[in-house]
Amino acid sequence: MQLSEKIEKIVKEVELFIQYGVQESELQDALELLQRYRDDDLALQLMRAFYSSLPETHEEAIVRISLIQKKDDIFLLGLSTARLSYLYLATDQKAVFLGEYGKEIVEPEMLALFGYADAKDLFEKYPELMACEEYEPARTSSAKFCPVCSAAVGEHHLLGCPVEVCPWCDGQFSRCGCRFEQLGLDVLEDEDELEELERILQEKGRIPYTPGQCPSYPSATDE
Ligand SMILES: [Zn+2]
Ligand SMILES: [Zn+2]
Repeated sequence: MQLSEKIEKIVKEVELFIQYGVQESELQDALELLQRYRDDDLALQLMRAFYSSLPETHEEAIVRISLIQKKDDIFLLGLSTARLSYLYLATDQKAVFLGEYGKEIVEPEMLALFGYADAKDLFEKYPELMACEEYEPARTSSAKFCPVCSAAVGEHHLLGCPVEVCPWCDGQFSRCGCRFEQLGLDVLEDEDELEELERILQEKGRIPYTPGQCPSYPSATDE
């Protein structure tokens, strides 16, 4: 199964759990948070773990995911609802519920990984979960820049970047034939021709980088 399909499947699952498990008044908030993290498999694992076994069936929506600490690919996360907070350990494969935040922990030995002797040790360091930074959706932060030439959102790609979209045909500019057609050349050979290309490209209106151009983004034609 493709990664994008796998993620799509988890999103659908979480959506179902939310629809059945969360009380009506908080449904909208729950779905909005899911949208925000819908490309982040770690957050999706976390949401699935939470909503598929709502602790003590509070029927509450997650309002915030806090990043407490990170070690290699393992994240120690705080998950807050309107009234309560929970502690989770998560990777992009799996999320494990450790307990209610500030209370006794189900598997305290897991905390040794992050250098804590016990739960008390951790809660003393982070008494207030809201003081921790919010967990950022991974894909969105990396999509702020073109994965190939590192142009920021709204900036032009470096000439020749394979992610750049052709303003003449909407194809891949480094692959389509438009540059030859527009210049009336068979090959591009020297600096001057490249400069001329850049000039007519500007004139036509270069298409700046947007995250949607990312080749890693699933598209309808992606099989
Ligand atoms: Zn680029
Ligand atoms: Zn083209």
